[in-house]
Amino acid sequence: MGVHLARVPGIEEIVLIDRDGRFGRGVAYSATADCHRLNVPAERMGGRDQEDGAGFATWLQRNGWPAGRTYEDTFVPRRLYGDYLCAELAAVEATRRLSRLRDDVQALERRPGGHAVVTASGKTIEAATVVLCLGNPPPAPIRATVPAPRLVPDIWAAGSLDPIRASDDVVIVGTGATAIDAVLELVRRGVGSRIRMISRGGRLPLVDAPGLPCDPLDPIPADTVRGMMTALRAAISDHAERGIPWQSVFDAFRARAGDIWLALSNDERRRFLRHLRSPWLVHRHRLAPDIARQMEKLQAEGRVEIIAARVLGGEPTPEGYALRLHRRGRPMEAGETLETDWVINCTGPDEHYSRSRIPLVQSLLSCGVARPGPFGLGLDCDHRHRLVDADGQAHAGLYLVGPPGRGRFWEVTSVPNGRDQCVNVAKDVAATLVPVASQTT
Ligand SMILES: Cc1cc2nc3c(=O)[nH]c(=O)nc-3n(C[C@H](O)[C@H](O)[C@H](O)COP(=O)(O)OP(=O)(O)OC[C@H]3O[C@@H](n4cnc5c(N)ncnc54)[C@H](O)[C@@H]3O)c2cc1C
Repeated sequence: MGVHLARVPGIEEIVLIDRDGRFGRGVAYSATADCHRLNVPAERMGGRDQEDGAGFATWLQRNGWPAGRTYEDTFVPRRLYGDYLCAELAAVEATRRLSRLRDDVQALERRPGGHAVVTASGKTIEAATVVLCLGNPPPAPIRATVPAPRLVPDIWAAGSLDPIRASDDVVIVGTGATAIDAVLELVRRGVGSRIRMISRGGRLPLVDAPGLPCDPLDPIPADTVRGMMTALRAAISDHAERGIPWQSVFDAFRARAGDIWLALSNDERRRFLRHLRSPWLVHRHRLAPDIARQMEKLQAEGRVEIIAARVLGGEPTPEGYALRLHRRGRPMEAGETLETDWVINCTGPDEHYSRSRIPLVQSLLSCGVARPGPFGLGLDCDHRHRLVDADGQAHAGLYLVGPPGRGRFWEVTSVPNGRDQCVNVAKDVAATLVPVASQTT
């Protein structure tokens, strides 16, 4: 966001605040291991904006990071994307209009002509424009589990996997992208002799098939979720005849997902969340082919086992942790207890902010500066990304971008989505700064 705001004439100073000091990298691109890869080929990460579509791939080439056949089929380590963002940020910092502050923003107050953010270290910073780029929150606690040192609540917290030893048995709750990162990290460290992964469906993300892009799709009907899925299936089989894989068609559909989501009625959106949310995620967050092969090998060797089950609860034992499960397809009374040395929570970000324990989110909601987003997901904002308060009024000069906008826009996580949002917010800010007379010249 800072890079895009720095291009807006008339902004005198930009302060980036991050509690962890991960400027430019955030959670996703702070990962340092080679096995923590982008979940799309490098080419599809794009660049600074739509005109700079090959930006990241060009940067990789210039910095001596070779492609496989092309950057359309190369899944590079995530840290390289972090390096790229840091280079972009450094170029802007050189202009001296942008500075960094490592601090935790805990509250936000309205002030005449703007807002003030209040930080944990006691600073109050006033600004005409504030953009909240809060990223993903940590996962919600696993249902009915008693917190304990052997239950790791968030793998991205510094040092969270350090106490796990080579001979330890590990249970990972979750089978999505973060759970796979956890498996690969344990294997890389040579710890966790037996790893069991649990989720209700017991399904890993599907495998990507890079290389054959799909042209933009014909308009997809968005009256009903059923109609939308029928049209998507038809497009997939139509393209299959021309050798274009479902993954490419799905991505072309996903490029339209934001508009489709906005066009659906609330009842239909609710239907989507109830019935299609999980299958959507399995198709959407895909695995690089070699990572999928590695997961298959680990399963074939018996190091990794995937269990389709619901976690009913859990508590610490003298030696480790015990989880109570109900396996899919078994009678309700057939509960089971899984004893392990460690449980790792990889259930994904807790998108229900009304139960958030993050001080800033609690403060925004309790003061009525914000309200939960549609369907209780994230925080509410309007189509211009302006935060919406408890009375339903959009704030001038206070924006929300990225994952917390999930309820309003649905597709908010990926880099291309986030970048489009940043571009739009920067345009909105520019329009409010530039006098009307000069806009028309
Ligand atoms: C593990 C992982 C892998 C991903 N892989 C891909 C991928 O391959 N391709 C892709 O397109 N997308 C991927 N994504 C999604 C996407 O890139 C991220 O969601 C995106 O980085 C969001 O950017 P952001 O700036 O909004 O949030 P983040 O990058 O999470 O940054 C938010 C920052 O804000 C700070 N912060 C939050 N609240 C406060 C506060 N109150 N005070 C101070 N600081 C605060 C946090 O410390 C954090 O550093 C991945 C996401 C994750 C989590």
